[in-house]
Amino acid sequence: MSQDHLNDARFETRTIHAGQGPDPQTGAVMTPVYLTSTYAQTSPGQTIGGYEYSRTHNPTRTALQDNLASLEGGAWGLCFSSGLAATNALMDRLVPGDHVIAGNDLYGGTYRIFTKVFERYGIEFSFVDTRDVESIRGALTPKTKYVYIETPSNPLLNLTDIAAAAEITHAGGAQLVVDNTFATPALQRPLELGADIVLHSLTKYLGGHSDVVAGALIGNDQTTQEELAFYQNSVGGTPGAMDAFLVLRGTKTLAIRMQRHGENALAVAKHLEAHDGVEKVFYPGLPSFPQHELAKRQMASGGGMVSFELKGGVLAGETFASSTKIFTLAESLGGVESLVETPPSMTHASIPPEVRHAAGLMDGLVRLSVGIEHVDDLIADIDQALVTALATANQHG
Ligand SMILES: *Cc1c(COP(=O)(O)O)cnc(C)c1O
Repeated sequence: MSQDHLNDARFETRTIHAGQGPDPQTGAVMTPVYLTSTYAQTSPGQTIGGYEYSRTHNPTRTALQDNLASLEGGAWGLCFSSGLAATNALMDRLVPGDHVIAGNDLYGGTYRIFTKVFERYGIEFSFVDTRDVESIRGALTPKTKYVYIETPSNPLLNLTDIAAAAEITHAGGAQLVVDNTFATPALQRPLELGADIVLHSLTKYLGGHSDVVAGALIGNDQTTQEELAFYQNSVGGTPGAMDAFLVLRGTKTLAIRMQRHGENALAVAKHLEAHDGVEKVFYPGLPSFPQHELAKRQMASGGGMVSFELKGGVLAGETFASSTKIFTLAESLGGVESLVETPPSMTHASIPPEVRHAAGLMDGLVRLSVGIEHVDDLIADIDQALVTALATANQHG
């Protein structure tokens, strides 16, 4: 069904409708979950709707891919069975000797797939602090194929100036990949700022309910799409139809969820910053954040993630994370429910301590995924956990 009427529609409208018209056969308003591996053909090689096998194409996945492309302002989207399967598909385009420049404060699993999987295949990586985009220029070589950044980064919420990074990357003949998992297209659209490929862990805010693992790549260049679709089909890390449906259900509420995540996280960050027992708060929406001006330029709000260090270090941080009652102690992020974790011993344990410390990720760091519960309940929970954490640290300090 033509979706031309959505061309001028606003973001909130496209979250709900892009990629998803009523089902032509039954009128079903919600996209059907096409639980089928194969499709009938009218004569050998003649498909009915272009579908032959669900690793290659599935209508529920097509709806999600079109929805995500619309939200990021891209021409195409490709979905994968996880965010890391999407990263893997990107890396499958490279050959031995190719070079990638990556941020030095990446999701731990991204660092692991780069250093433990793709370095073995002769792909070379330089990890640089992309808060200073000139560090990208300095690391470019004739073999550089990608500059791969996360902004805001995980877990320190460091920002990279996407427009400036795109200019430097293109001058070096490489493609700029932006992991937009933390900001989501509701707050930041890297393709509009010059990036070539956006990567998502759909597991996080786009799914939004902590009930599915999936990933996506989105872009504009047709040759890039064809190459990545080749690897999507050839390697086969594709999501099932039910997973695609769950993410589609999630994106429908993305705009209002991100608004509330941002409001709650800002209130939590301000509250923590004002507390005597807190050493340092990392949140792009705080005026005290070193890159707050850049945040205001390329993001609509600071997002839902807040990290902080307590006076009392590792013991205080780990006690805090074990003492909250509404914030659940768990890895992952981006669901409607609030979560707390300690990156050095959980999500980022796969990064060697000396590498973490060099990037400013200290052992007492606590990371919050601030959910959409009532903010007063969240702040009360933080306060009671702070009392326990600081008392414990004092006893042992
Ligand atoms: C979770 C995450 C990933 C990896 O995605 P999976 O769906 O877990 O494979 C990549 N980047 C960021 C920023 C993440 O938070």
